[in-house]
Amino acid sequence: MNTTTLILATRNPGKLVELKTILAEAALPYDLVSADAYPDIPDVKETGVTFAENALLKAHTLARATGLPAIADDSGLCVDVLNGAPGIFSARWAGRHGDDEANLRLLLAQLSDIDHPHRAARYTCAAALALPDGTEHVTRGELPGVLRTVAEGTGGFGYDPAFQPEGETLTNAQLPPERQHLFNHRAAAFRKLVPVIRELVG
Ligand code: IMP
Repeated sequence: MNTTTLILATRNPGKLVELKTILAEAALPYDLVSADAYPDIPDVKETGVTFAENALLKAHTLARATGLPAIADDSGLCVDVLNGAPGIFSARWAGRHGDDEANLRLLLAQLSDIDHPHRAARYTCAAALALPDGTEHVTRGELPGVLRTVAEGTGGFGYDPAFQPEGETLTNAQLPPERQHLFNHRAAAFRKLVPVIRELVG
């Protein structure tokens, strides 16, 4: 039995569970550990200007530092009427990294005069696999939807209280987490990475 270890470049336990679910769904026999298993490796500065660049930066850094195949993702919300913003700036749209409440408030204020047909948005994710020898591959996943005018729901994080996925009547923050974790942008990108992991990691 192959017990190759893959490392996921995140300290977010939710993402680890999401990726474990996708690997299990595909019956891939790898052990998956998070960057938390290597506390001495510093977090990577996200200096890229695309989701793919940032995901690759994180995956390569971790693969080089650990000698293990590494997976990283970078994601954000892209709003049509804002020409794709906040995009890679999603986590710090209001100025302070990770201030979800301020980011959401600012986005809703910016869109306050925009009517329903023009409130389309999509969560976008780039997932990268990097091997210690420098081999790399990137996949992308999307979750299209619309932005509500008023935030609703207490689940999820980030822009979830305002984001209603296509085909749903509830926001991401109101939907059961198991449901949206199976069909979100990360799951879509991770699923596309499965055949690549099979081919490149073996
Ligand atoms: P990260 O790349 O997963 O750290 O995401 C960067 C930022 O994008 C987060 O801080 C959120 O603002 C936003 N974001 C990405 N994915 C999601 C999601 O599934 N729900 C809500 N916000 C998200």
